Amino acid sequence: MHDDNTTSLRLAGGPDAITEGLAHKRTIRCVHCRKILKKKTMDHVFPSSWYPENTPENVQRWTVPSCRECNQKFGEMEKEVFIRAALCVGPVKGEAEGLSRRALESLGVEAIGISVEEQRRRQALKEKIVKQIKSYVPGTEHFPGLGPHEGFPEDEQHEIRIPAEHMKEVAGKIVRGCEYVLAKRRIIEDPYTVEIYFADEKKIGDVIELFDKFGPGPVHLGPGFQVRRAVAHDDPNAVLYKIDIWGTWAIYASILAERRQ
Ligand SMILES: [Zn+2]
Repeated sequence: MHDDNTTSLRLAGGPDAITEGLAHKRTIRCVHCRKILKKKTMDHVFPSSWYPENTPENVQRWTVPSCRECNQKFGEMEKEVFIRAALCVGPVKGEAEGLSRRALESLGVEAIGISVEEQRRRQALKEKIVKQIKSYVPGTEHFPGLGPHEGFPEDEQHEIRIPAEHMKEVAGKIVRGCEYVLAKRRIIEDPYTVEIYFADEKKIGDVIELFDKFGPGPVHLGPGFQVRRAVAHDDPNAVLYKIDIWGTWAIYASILAERRQ
């Protein structure tokens, strides 16, 4: 005997298969290049190595879907930015505990238990970085927050160039990740674009005020990071960000609809 109803149910695979099928249909895209992901890979919004050593275990380490290519591309840039920025952060700063030591280790200084090949790679990186370190000339323009260390004679300090384009790329990556986490899996797309700014907090009091007016308090992700997000009252997709890193420097970003002429 053939029961049509049962057969059709069996063909559908039963309720589980239907639910699974629906879940499968919810396409997951890379937050960075917006490509549909066949295989879901996750990317740390704040790179793992950027978390200070005193970050409590229970702090959420945000991750977002990202394709392998983007993961790799940003991973390289994050390393470049990290070494330079972490070397500029005071070694005794609580918000950046262990970071300058980690930066030195990635240059092979006092790193233990690494292979000969890895030692060589780090040595080469160290030589490259050391070449870029110059004596600080007092008065030279510096990256906001990463200027000369207060309380130390200026002529005894050093400087290193941080490639601005890498800094912006990495900052944009962090902002897209934050927006995905904080705005219900939002992927930023046309006509909205992310603009990144680096500024000295003391000089932009009017912008800081916007966060107090339009945003909730900051989200703390341990001692290393603080995220503030403010939304325009007339457009829920127009957003401002202030992301504090290591109590030292900050990323400012706007997500706005491009004005078309
Ligand atoms: Zn991608």
